[in-house]
Amino acid sequence: MNVRVRFAPSPTGYLHIGGLRTALYNYLFAKNQGGVFILRIEDTDRERYVEGAVEKLIKTMEAVGLRHDEGPFVQSERLDIYKKYADQLLEQGSAYKCFCTKERLDEVRKQQQLAKMPTKYDRHCSDLSVEEVEKKVAAGEPFVVRMKIPEGKTVFDDVIRGKVTIENAEVDDQVLIKSDGFPTYHLANVTDDHEMSVTHVIRGEEWLSSVPKHVILYDMFGWDKPIFAHLPLILNPDKSKLSKRQGDVAVEDYLAKGYLVEALINFVATLGYNPKGDQEIYDIDELIKLFDLSKVNASGAVLNTEKLDWVNSHYIREKSVEQLVELCQPFLERAGKSVDTEMFKKIVSIEQERMVRLDEIVEMVGMYVEDLKIKDPEILVWKKADKEDATKNLTGVIELIESLKEGDFASVDLVEKAVKGYIDNKGLANGNVLWPMRVALSGQKASPGPFELAWALGREQTLKRLRNALIALK
Ligand code: GLU
Repeated sequence: MNVRVRFAPSPTGYLHIGGLRTALYNYLFAKNQGGVFILRIEDTDRERYVEGAVEKLIKTMEAVGLRHDEGPFVQSERLDIYKKYADQLLEQGSAYKCFCTKERLDEVRKQQQLAKMPTKYDRHCSDLSVEEVEKKVAAGEPFVVRMKIPEGKTVFDDVIRGKVTIENAEVDDQVLIKSDGFPTYHLANVTDDHEMSVTHVIRGEEWLSSVPKHVILYDMFGWDKPIFAHLPLILNPDKSKLSKRQGDVAVEDYLAKGYLVEALINFVATLGYNPKGDQEIYDIDELIKLFDLSKVNASGAVLNTEKLDWVNSHYIREKSVEQLVELCQPFLERAGKSVDTEMFKKIVSIEQERMVRLDEIVEMVGMYVEDLKIKDPEILVWKKADKEDATKNLTGVIELIESLKEGDFASVDLVEKAVKGYIDNKGLANGNVLWPMRVALSGQKASPGPFELAWALGREQTLKRLRNALIALK
């Protein structure tokens, strides 16, 4: 089979995490099968139209590496096609024109609600005679086109959910063409999937309830149906449904916070299933190779940001220092900070191990380049020592550093050798010396090691910080 899949977002603002998962699964499936990945913009709901949303969406898709093979096809530019097919359904009696006013429809719904009946169109216009319809149209009465749901039941298979059966009596006479002449999602979606020879419809679970209408439409047209696969909902950690409005779920926000593309893709790919079961890290090639639609879980996938953080720090550690410098640079610029290139490289290489997100670099840099104030001198005192001991050892380290030359700061190893040599010579214990030294250089209880810090800061800054710490201790 020549696999053809599509990602068909409605451009209502931005690509959110759920949308990224849908796009990614379509992409992975297409690549796994040697198929085609189509991008289709479903913009027929003019009320929800957002200026610039399409461009933003395409930019984000590109940023995360999900390149489409065909498209973007834009539904608002394809209205003739939908009209043609709606006319065909009208002609064959599978659809009818409905002239009911909003007031009437509201009233019908109200009555049904009062009677605790399912709310659906009462088919008031389904049996209008040809003459009646013509008269109303000629009089300029606005109308919609509705599909005439046949009796019986609708059965379809879903790769993830298995066999689904729905009584047609439960299905509403869906509007296909609205009074503004635009098609609804249902008509445009089904006719486009047919026109674009889509073989697999892979999308979020929220669309599952639309499938009966779609299946009936395919049957009305006599078209082959695609294979359906509805992906599990994405849930908040408290198991509530992830809302597009809840928290930051826009992919661009994740990128702006310093999540790497590889980490986001890896993380989102495992929202719904884990290709190997126990492995957590997958690159895109492995994801493509292992992708198996039938293994996707039917139950909801919890969005666990702690895991995302963990995956992100993994990919950060995999970068070379040069790559990481390049990735971090924009964050620094955006924060309006600038650091000497060599110093920045040193900072990045030291902080790589601790960094969870790229945006943290801004604060991390601050620790190296801004004047340090030790607010609580107590933190300079090692747990097995006292203030006097800290003072004595800081004084000793200052003397040592004063005796060193710039060249002794050329590498972390050289600094380490000098300080360790001093400790050994004097018969001191590491903790008594290195703890106050490290805290004096970082101003923090937890920080990179003293040798790395001294190396990055250089002789002069190291001395300055040690002396300040000594003053703070008094
Ligand atoms: N336009 C729908 C959306 O915004 C697409 C649903 C589908 O893929 O059929 O999610």
